[in-house]
Amino acid sequence: MSSHRSVIRNGFVVSMDPDIGEIPNGEVLVEDGVIVEVGQDLGVSDAEEIDATSMIVMPGFVDTHRHTWQTPVRGVLPCCTLDHYFAVMLGSVGGHYRAEDVHVGNYAGALEAINGGVTTLLDWSHINNTPDHSDAAIQGLKDAGIRAIYAHGVPTGGEWWAFSELNHPEDIRRIRDTYFSSDDGLITLALAARAPGNSNFEVAKHDWELARDLGIRISVHVGMRLTTVHVTHVKNMHDLGLLGPDTTYIHCTDSTDEELDLIASTGGTASVAPYVEMLMGHGPPPTGRLLQRGVRPSLSVDVVSSVPGEMFTQMRTALVHERIGAHTDTPDEAFAPTLTHRDVLEFATIEGARACALEDKVGSLTPGKQADIVLLKVDAINTAPMVDPIGTIVVFADTSNVDSVFVAGDAVKRNGQLVDADLKQIFRKLDESRNHILGEGELLPDWAAAPATAV
Ligand SMILES: [Zn+2]
Repeated sequence: MSSHRSVIRNGFVVSMDPDIGEIPNGEVLVEDGVIVEVGQDLGVSDAEEIDATSMIVMPGFVDTHRHTWQTPVRGVLPCCTLDHYFAVMLGSVGGHYRAEDVHVGNYAGALEAINGGVTTLLDWSHINNTPDHSDAAIQGLKDAGIRAIYAHGVPTGGEWWAFSELNHPEDIRRIRDTYFSSDDGLITLALAARAPGNSNFEVAKHDWELARDLGIRISVHVGMRLTTVHVTHVKNMHDLGLLGPDTTYIHCTDSTDEELDLIASTGGTASVAPYVEMLMGHGPPPTGRLLQRGVRPSLSVDVVSSVPGEMFTQMRTALVHERIGAHTDTPDEAFAPTLTHRDVLEFATIEGARACALEDKVGSLTPGKQADIVLLKVDAINTAPMVDPIGTIVVFADTSNVDSVFVAGDAVKRNGQLVDADLKQIFRKLDESRNHILGEGELLPDWAAAPATAV
């Protein structure tokens, strides 16, 4: 069987691999979906040529936590508190989802991620109201062609939260057997766990044992501030002997210094979602507090019910929030922030890969890794002229500059267009799902409920 070779030429390579660095007029050689060589003038003549003139060639972003199922209710809570979010989204909206709503949510949401240059998405899926919902979620990710970690969570509904007495659904064993018999696929499995405090302590022990019995990673929300709730999730996990390097801790916004020390000392990874944390009042993003302990966080979108679904916003929000945190109360001390644009690009790429235990596969343009590659146009009115390529990515670029996206060498976006996506049909299905879900929840605006005008 002959192999397929392609070479990306004439671009500015931002590898995010410290041994390779940045290469003006660089080349990336890809063979059968794997990066083979990165450099200048590779002398390749027997490969398909991909011209990246006036483009940055960079690794795809890794979003380490997104409830992708919420795509059909995009923007329903543009300015809410976390109390309100829980009441509306988990108390009401989620209960109205049919399996088909989960499918279009995950399919469209994963396409949205790809469109913005995200090649790896951890789908934190707590919409498993029936096994059909789970199957639909996985199918949606598959249909989009994204690299994903399907993190299987509980169904919606209050009985699954606030010291819940219900164990994590056993259906995850069927899912493991049906879809994830190998851990080498484009989509892999994790357990989207409830922290002790969300579930009672016996349930938490059960759920952690379940994940470890299945040999899969754990992703868990901790330290979000809710009115009148006093729970130290990480401390509880420590007391129960649950902490470990197989766990990613989301938010950690209201976690104590002692709890962050415990995450660091047990080899845990972190996912900071700075926009949602500041919007809803989870607490200040703990970027600097984590860095002080040697935990370099990843970044995540969390919810498109309230947050833009791309990583540029997350990088910029993380950067400026952390920098103003270095402000002191006197002009006698010079403002001396330490976080840089390069740091947040690392958070959005290689640190995301680490948080998913995929650092040997993705997160940088390194020979041997999967060809998850983004071409970003720099000859656009918001990016030209380029001086500092990492500055161009972090400070100026947006989704409109994402020209091409490759996942394992396969083009999923080319020349600014998603490949093989019938957007008209997707938008129609999204509207239909929105109307069903929000109609049932009495949240649908009148204008949306009105019959469409004839065309
Ligand atoms: Zn979340």
